[in-house]
Amino acid sequence: MAGLYIHIPFCRHKCHYCNFHFSTSLKSIAGMLSSIKAEIALRSRELHGERIETIYFGGGTPSLIGVNEIEKILTTIRSNYILSKDVEISIEINPEDVTNERVACWKSMGINRASVGVQSFSDSDLLWMNRKHSGEQAIESIKVLKEQGFKKLSIDLIYGIPTSEKSTFRSNIKKAIDLEVGHISAYMLTVEPNTALDHLIQKNKCKEMDEELVLEQFVYLKRELEAEGFEQYELSSFAKADHRSRHNTSYWQFIPYLGFGPSAHSFTPGEPAIRRWNVSSNSAYIKGIESGLDYFEEEKLEARDIYNEYIMTSLRTWQGIDLSFVKARFDKSYVDYLVSSLNRAIEKEQIVFKNNHYHLHRNALMKADSVIADLFVV
Ligand code: SF4
Repeated sequence: MAGLYIHIPFCRHKCHYCNFHFSTSLKSIAGMLSSIKAEIALRSRELHGERIETIYFGGGTPSLIGVNEIEKILTTIRSNYILSKDVEISIEINPEDVTNERVACWKSMGINRASVGVQSFSDSDLLWMNRKHSGEQAIESIKVLKEQGFKKLSIDLIYGIPTSEKSTFRSNIKKAIDLEVGHISAYMLTVEPNTALDHLIQKNKCKEMDEELVLEQFVYLKRELEAEGFEQYELSSFAKADHRSRHNTSYWQFIPYLGFGPSAHSFTPGEPAIRRWNVSSNSAYIKGIESGLDYFEEEKLEARDIYNEYIMTSLRTWQGIDLSFVKARFDKSYVDYLVSSLNRAIEKEQIVFKNNHYHLHRNALMKADSVIADLFVV
């Protein structure tokens, strides 16, 4: 069982908050796609014949490249890997790229899950974030995907937008629910270094939203979605029954995956487990593939890395920390350290123990990263 991730590193514009790897210069698309197909073929033995359960086109903006190009990448994958019969094939889509023709092509080539970058249905929010679609276009794009038979649909939403009024935010949640999709990813707006948003804040041209208000939005969002039958199966991910992202879930279960394209990460379990990441530069990636030079770095994961990874994924997801798993998998020193750190966190109402597992306390949801980091072995 394994997954494949394909990073398409191009966008037409820069959203103010984004720090993913992408380029707005589209000149090297042809060279990039040839290199990605070459990498897919080159690495086909790394999974030792494991069946591929999930394929994910992310970015950047995969929906901006031609449907024929996506099909060629899938053909390369099919000729080099064994795919499961019910393989989940997802694509990230921006609403402005959705047309009946494109959606029909994606569907005919076997893509069966779409994740639409809605972010907000409010045109003023979208303008503030420098998105290039309107709220109406976002709604229309979901309708088209549904009419063309896409059953597994996800939308991305952002909360904590400082210019967004309470009524706008609540209307966003209502519109998201009314669309009747099975999956919603809700991300808190974070200020990443060197983004346009970071510069605006540095120059006092905008402020971050007050922490209390962000928490209020998150609590509202969680309550409304859960009332509609969504389960929060990861901090940012809500799904109705049978709509969890199988691809993302596999990341949290230490299932092997290969990432193709610049900045893509790969993970292969074993003794030792290996984490690998491709260079975050389009030109260096293409040059590396074409000339046979190194285009990636890798590290062997030690017990401490695996332990920290387990703590992070189990607390971010519905799974929670299972102490018996830690006892079976790690030395006693890790177990003792974890038990004493968990006890401290329980006293501070950051962690709760229920159903035999340790979970984040609801008071800690907004500072999850720092609570989790306190449990790491460094
Ligand atoms: S949010 Fe998506 S569309 Fe916007 S710049 Fe980042 S990768 Fe591109």
